[in-house]
Amino acid sequence: MATRVIESSVRLDLREEVCPFSFVRTKLQLEKMKPGEILEVVLRGAAIENVPRSAEREGHVVLHHERLGGDYVFYIKKMDCEKRDHACARRDCFHCHDILRDRALEARKEADPEKRLKDLEEGSARLGGASAEEVLAWALEFFGKEKIALATSFGPEDMVLTDMLARIEPAARIFTLDTGRLYQETYCVMDRTMKKYGMKVEVYCPDARELEELTREYGPNLFYDSVENRMSCCRIRKINPLKRVLSTLDAWTCGLRREQSPTRTGVSKVEVVGRDNIIAKINPLAEWTEKDVWDYIRKYDVPSNELHACGFPSIGCAPCTRALKPGEDIRAGRWWWEQPAQKECGLHGKK
Ligand code: SF4
Repeated sequence: MATRVIESSVRLDLREEVCPFSFVRTKLQLEKMKPGEILEVVLRGAAIENVPRSAEREGHVVLHHERLGGDYVFYIKKMDCEKRDHACARRDCFHCHDILRDRALEARKEADPEKRLKDLEEGSARLGGASAEEVLAWALEFFGKEKIALATSFGPEDMVLTDMLARIEPAARIFTLDTGRLYQETYCVMDRTMKKYGMKVEVYCPDARELEELTREYGPNLFYDSVENRMSCCRIRKINPLKRVLSTLDAWTCGLRREQSPTRTGVSKVEVVGRDNIIAKINPLAEWTEKDVWDYIRKYDVPSNELHACGFPSIGCAPCTRALKPGEDIRAGRWWWEQPAQKECGLHGKK
């Protein structure tokens, strides 16, 4: 057995882990460490070379590796490299050129739909105990960053996912649906988010002609008149713009949680929404509680909508959202004049 020659600051035992979680865990651990510190990673099984390769692509240095019995040990030095913040010209730099992602994109173009669906189902079956960050990283890797985007309405769950994405992949796509009826506080948190993270948010608006016709026919407050009218408004202001953005994607990420409403108790981390063209919905926070979300927001100083402090746990369009009264259910402030089972706008309806 070889002798260990390097003192490490942190040891990561990934012998029970499978690819791609092994290099995702390594990446996340390196993000937490100080420059100059050494990470010792213990691996077992196939595809172990992905770990040192991805670390090197991110600008870190693999100092040494050795074999201990049936295991492999890599010593990776965390580098404080300006290049890691995207100004470098190295062709093999992960951040600058995204070689891994481009390769994944190319591979996906060549893959046939049946194989791709099988890969998706196999990959998602391994996400049972994965953290939200691992689900996000897996999805980015699987779909490629051009073909997956986070849908945000700047609610607490969306802000948690935005913060995670900013650390995992700053060039990840994020989009929002501007219905034209949002609270000013929502535009404020949108503005703060763009400034804090420097991430571009794609803003999708309703079709002006559809909106003019709807308002002319039913008036500006049609949503209060019937569920049907409300759904028409949601369709034109939300669903149709969503269809536009989905036409550019293979998957979208949402902040859905099982405990949010009676209609969301069956939410899973990966859902195949369209089996023909394989549109997948990724829900990394499916198992999170409301407390988990707010603990994260406070811990990482994540921007949030000021209306949450005024009794709004869930914030949508201004005419359709109100503050909660003491003891009310979390979804009671949305479309409060409708029955709980009807309270979906169609964005997250049944497949
Ligand atoms: Fe229209 Fe209300 Fe739906 Fe917004 S939430 S799109 S205002 S019905």
